[in-house]
Amino acid sequence: MLYTVALKKGERKTSVNDYVKYYDELQRIGIWDYLTELEKSVLNIKEAFDDALQLFKIQTAAGLIEFVISRILEKFVPEHLLFCIEVFANFNPEIYYFHKLNAAVPPKQVYWYNELKEFLPEGDSPLLFTKKTKERFSHSLRENLRDYRPSIILPMKGPEGFFGMVLFSGKVTNEAYTESEIAYVNRLIQFFSVSLQNALYHQGSITDLKTGLFNHAYFMRRLEEELFRARRYKTVTSILLMDIDFFKHLNDTHGHLAGDTVLQELAKRMKEKLRIEDILSRFGGEEFILLLPMTIMPTALEIAERLRRAVEKLLVPYGDKELAVTISIGCAVSGPMDPLAPQEMISRADDALYKSKQNGRNRVTLYMKQDVPSPSARS
Ligand code: GH3
Ligand code: MG
Ligand code: MG
Repeated sequence: MLYTVALKKGERKTSVNDYVKYYDELQRIGIWDYLTELEKSVLNIKEAFDDALQLFKIQTAAGLIEFVISRILEKFVPEHLLFCIEVFANFNPEIYYFHKLNAAVPPKQVYWYNELKEFLPEGDSPLLFTKKTKERFSHSLRENLRDYRPSIILPMKGPEGFFGMVLFSGKVTNEAYTESEIAYVNRLIQFFSVSLQNALYHQGSITDLKTGLFNHAYFMRRLEEELFRARRYKTVTSILLMDIDFFKHLNDTHGHLAGDTVLQELAKRMKEKLRIEDILSRFGGEEFILLLPMTIMPTALEIAERLRRAVEKLLVPYGDKELAVTISIGCAVSGPMDPLAPQEMISRADDALYKSKQNGRNRVTLYMKQDVPSPSARS
């Protein structure tokens, strides 16, 4: 490092010998060590800012965790790393487990979670596993935790307060964590927690609770955006409106809970059959709607047929029974030749769905201008 000092008028220019003299003197009073420490902490602050910036840009829980793992990997490798996240307060936490920083199958239950929560310090400081800490634990807590060799536990707190914890075991190398490593992960997890809680709230606001699909409001927003973009870039957008056939009968025969189970399984199966960019939403009670961005009509019909068949084949175990349903589908397409407004497009898909029902259900119909009766002709 080079330090220059501006000389005042008349001041003597410093000679090399002076530098040597000052150097030794400054060394003696510890200035160089101090400056090195200062430089290190400036780098740490810069690193923390960079981490925070990156984290604030990520919107999904999986993405945030992936980022944290990549950052930890640059520093050290804990043998076990567990993220315990209370997605809904007071329910069992969701667990993400990493063995030597590789994603691994999480334990089904973390019996120690609620008891361990009681030991977390107030504020944002970590719980460090010293001998003294362990002495305060019950025998069962120590036993339940043993497999994870815990070393550092960090609380997760977001704008709405506490919602989980992160457990670091000892390192694979068996070296102890240094103070600056503990300070680093503590800060990283604090930033991560704020972003994660925001992401979870955002996720909650666009998700249908029963099926885990997107909700109606989110679908409408995406459809509007997509049609706007399609108009600008002259691309084609398709939607599929789907309705379960004779669902009332299934409810009446097997009960409402059986109906709910079918809704959930059907949502899961359909999601498996789609691409990540397709927006599958619960539109109403037993109705689903799918937005297919940049998808031309033949492809949309192919996807519709794939979904129809997948549902037809699906057997949902319920008690000692296996429940089966079918769906009817209506397809509408908006392209440069015939660009549609969102409501218009949905109304066309609805007309086509109505045709599918009329023609015997369990089928796909594409909206055609000429052969759909006007709404007033419907009974
Ligand atoms: P169609 O083939 O003509 O569509 O007949 P359908 O019986 O499916 O149609 P209808 O509109 O008469 O009935 C829809 C049923 O869906 C009635 C309602 O109880 C049920 N339903 C709507 N939402 C839910 C839900 O969240 N859970 C359950 N179990 N049933 C629901
Ligand atoms: Mg319906
Ligand atoms: Mg129905």
